[in-house]
Amino acid sequence: MINLHDLTYDQLTKLLADWGYSKFHAGVVWKGLYRDLAETVDDLPDVRLDLRKKLSLNATIGKLGTLSDLGSSDGNTRKFLLRCVDDQSIETVIMRYAGRQERPDETRRYTACVSSQAGCAMGCVFCATGQMGFMRHLTPGEIVGQIVFVERLLREPSAKPEDSGPAKQVAQLRNIVLMGMGEPLHNYNNTMRAIDIVTDNRGLGLGPRHITLSTVGLPTGIRRLANEKRSINLAVSLHGATDAERQRLVPTANRWSLATLLDACRYYTEKRKRRIFFEWTLIAYENDTAEQAHALGQLLAGMDAHINVIPLNPTDGYGGAPSDSQRVQAFQAILAQYGLPSTVRQRRGIDIAAGCGQLRQRVTT
Ligand code: SAH
Ligand code: SF4
Repeated sequence: MINLHDLTYDQLTKLLADWGYSKFHAGVVWKGLYRDLAETVDDLPDVRLDLRKKLSLNATIGKLGTLSDLGSSDGNTRKFLLRCVDDQSIETVIMRYAGRQERPDETRRYTACVSSQAGCAMGCVFCATGQMGFMRHLTPGEIVGQIVFVERLLREPSAKPEDSGPAKQVAQLRNIVLMGMGEPLHNYNNTMRAIDIVTDNRGLGLGPRHITLSTVGLPTGIRRLANEKRSINLAVSLHGATDAERQRLVPTANRWSLATLLDACRYYTEKRKRRIFFEWTLIAYENDTAEQAHALGQLLAGMDAHINVIPLNPTDGYGGAPSDSQRVQAFQAILAQYGLPSTVRQRRGIDIAAGCGQLRQRVTT
């Protein structure tokens, strides 16, 4: 059975052409999938009867079942455990960013944090997904399916992360961060295909510039991304500014030195003419020291870089503590001396273990 969410527009067109249907029919099916968000082949509107029959014999629309649904106490974050066809489960988080005071008639914007793998093979010591190990890659359709799931949710007036607010407010999925479970560049082809599907203007039409891919820092994948045309944002998880420190936290650092990783990053900024975001999980007295801050400053000075600092979120398998606000500020002040802008990522959904690095398959949290 073909999962229609696995196919790009061109692949769908080709499939239908092989069955003897013109491009027009591919357009109708695509619209049903991504504008009407049809849940089954039978729900696809305007599809000719003979094509519908052919589709129901050969294809499905992969729907991810909901295993659990948790809302954070501040009402702005909601975490879903979703079930794949083989009973593998993955997590998707939806966040509402309350920026300036919204007007009642203004569109509410949401960010979805999407998984690219069930588990993760990279084994970063402080990350719950890393602690559980690798199960498998997600298919393009399973990555797309998470985004379709969120789009459907935002169309239900009562089911947003927060229930209050005037009914006439429109909810829009604006940003996608590939920062859920898994390492997206380890699942390169499926991730890129999913990005191509959700950014297609004939369907969901999400803006590539509103998509951020976060990687543990696989140099080959970064170079490949640099050579391709997609204008998504890249975030590279660094966590250590010397090989010794990074190796303590990120096992892949044993395979690729910082010099090799930074070479790939520079290649990316030169080739794409885009800034890179570097992520730094700040762990008290581990990697939040003045020495590490200066080493980081020297490593990135002169580069078009922005550092996202994430105070450590607790996980069962790691004993470190988050840096307090004084240490966070001191760290940022040193970076500023090197002309490096940084922001502290807001802590989100910590009470429901939906924060960065807290995602793992658990029905009861
Ligand atoms: N595999 C990718 C994307 C998923 S993790 C990557 O590693 O970049 C998304 C971000 O959360 C990464 O920067 C990761 O280092 C960070 N992270 C993981 N565990 C964390 C934790 N316990 N507290 C804070 N940030 C964490
Ligand atoms: Fe995998 Fe990213 Fe977690 Fe590291 S931080 S184990 S790469 S999900």
